[in-house]
Amino acid sequence: MAAIAFLGLGNMGGPMAKNLLAAGHSLTVFDLVEAACAALEAEGAAIAASAAEAAAGADVIISMLPAGKHVAGTFLGEDGLLAKVPTDTLILDASTIDAATARQVGEAAAELGIDFMDTPVSGGVAAAAGGTLAFMCGGSAGAFDRAKPILEGMGSAEKIFHAGSAGAGQVAKAANNMLLAVHMIGTSEALAMGHAHGLDPVVLSEIMKASSGNNWSLQVYNPWPDVMEGVPSSNNYQPGFMVDLMVKDLGLACEVAESGGVDNQMGKQAMAAYSAHQGEGNGPRDFSSILEWVKAQTG
Ligand code: NAD
Repeated sequence: MAAIAFLGLGNMGGPMAKNLLAAGHSLTVFDLVEAACAALEAEGAAIAASAAEAAAGADVIISMLPAGKHVAGTFLGEDGLLAKVPTDTLILDASTIDAATARQVGEAAAELGIDFMDTPVSGGVAAAAGGTLAFMCGGSAGAFDRAKPILEGMGSAEKIFHAGSAGAGQVAKAANNMLLAVHMIGTSEALAMGHAHGLDPVVLSEIMKASSGNNWSLQVYNPWPDVMEGVPSSNNYQPGFMVDLMVKDLGLACEVAESGGVDNQMGKQAMAAYSAHQGEGNGPRDFSSILEWVKAQTG
């Protein structure tokens, strides 16, 4: 079992840290929000007053922070953790951030001989709480071998992937979420079109699930209200996965596409649609509420 420093105890980091404690690791935690730390202290973690204090004596550092600037601020520069920790420390950044920053931190760590991996997650708050997250990892094969048993404390063993070198985890995450955004809009358009012609969305969903339009949105996350039980569309689009986060992830995907010289036209159209929907006050709602935007376009 490892001594782990866990940085960032928000909606995702809090339950992830809790699962690591349950798996038998010892945790020292740090978050800017005191109440977030107190909640983990109640579960058996030690609280640190800074990231550096949390990292002192840790075998593994895990961060789950909002964006690239927080990750760069935590690890890079004279005051950053890379300059302070022993070279045998394993660092795993599970935040969803821009691939360029992930590469920069990964390369700075490699120059110091420190194993760093970008390990963004898929699965959301429910999977974080249930310990069933998927991890997509960027870094060396050696770092992946060290990371896997730790990540298994927060995710499903069969869903932990080595995507490639530093930054590859963030590229994989951006690719996946861009595809999710596009097929959720496509699914919404198909259902709206059928409904406009008098088809029952329940029947049309069954037809498409049994046909070549079958996809994850139809299988487990149908955007049409009351087609499926227990999904955000049947609960007034309570998240789930917020429109705000989808817009963030599509912005990262568009950066990844541009820096790779790929003209991601569908991704850009999805970005425009979700941004317009967000601008109409839907940021905190579930991303499957894009169905309402689709219906508004089609009158
Ligand atoms: P959140 O805003 O709930 O939590 C972020 C936490 O980081 C906050 O508690 C904040 O106080 C803390 N923090 C900020 N700067 C810090 C610093 N310098 N040091 C220590 N703590 C700091 O966000 P979240 O929903 O937990 O998401 C975290 C990351 O996971 C994001 O990158 C997000 O895009 C990604 N993600 C979220 C979901 C989701 O469904 N919420 C799903 C997959 C991935």
